[in-house]
Amino acid sequence: MLAIFGVTCLVAFAGYRLRSLTRSGAVLTVVTGTVIGYGFGWFGLYLLGVFFSTSSLASKYRSRDKKSVDEIVEKSGPRDFVQVLANGGAGMATALGMTLVPNDAWLYAYVASTAAATSDTWGSEFGVLAKQKPRSIKTFREVEPGTSGGVSLFGTLMSVAGATVIIAASYPFIQMDVTFALVLIVLGLSGSVVDTLLGATVQRKYRCRVCDKLTEKKAHHREPTIYVSGWRILGNDAVNFLSIAAAATISFLLLR
Ligand SMILES: [Zn+2]
Repeated sequence: MLAIFGVTCLVAFAGYRLRSLTRSGAVLTVVTGTVIGYGFGWFGLYLLGVFFSTSSLASKYRSRDKKSVDEIVEKSGPRDFVQVLANGGAGMATALGMTLVPNDAWLYAYVASTAAATSDTWGSEFGVLAKQKPRSIKTFREVEPGTSGGVSLFGTLMSVAGATVIIAASYPFIQMDVTFALVLIVLGLSGSVVDTLLGATVQRKYRCRVCDKLTEKKAHHREPTIYVSGWRILGNDAVNFLSIAAAATISFLLLR
């Protein structure tokens, strides 16, 4: 247990130094990693590491080409503790479930929730680089890259790839056949579906008074933005948390 805590501290410190995490994000990474390590042992920590490292790389990949997207999304740069909680909160809950009422379904729910978090991150971080503009799944109109609720073929393929990488990384360590692996990939992707649906409908959106762009930011061009639509309490982090939690819940209920 002490070793798991030690490794988590090292990873969080490295994430902080590499500017993938803010200070508060690093602290919450230690909490998340330790709880998940307690519930699922080294496998849990290893899978979290696969998510963490590939997502950090995805964020940094061609980051200069994503500058225009930074104008739209609520947060960019190192992840703070709210973002860590949004991505790892559901995983922590499955680890606590495993500790309190041991059942293999918690482990599958953890794998699916990590697949959901990875597919969300890959879908958005790589998806915004697609040559074609995404379309809103609500109106089917073209929207700016980075707009929540927008989908593109490339982004969708990268979401599938992200979920697949997590299941492939789990394959040697969890008893599963190919059919079950495919089920887990689909369960992971269910998170992305929920993410896109919420993003297109109830996630809050604002408009800049200066440049007239739709954005998730509360201020743009140093001016407070105007509220356009969505539930005011539902920002990107809340939507991420809900979609990953949805994937974990669906998986647990189906596989218990
Ligand atoms: Zn603006």
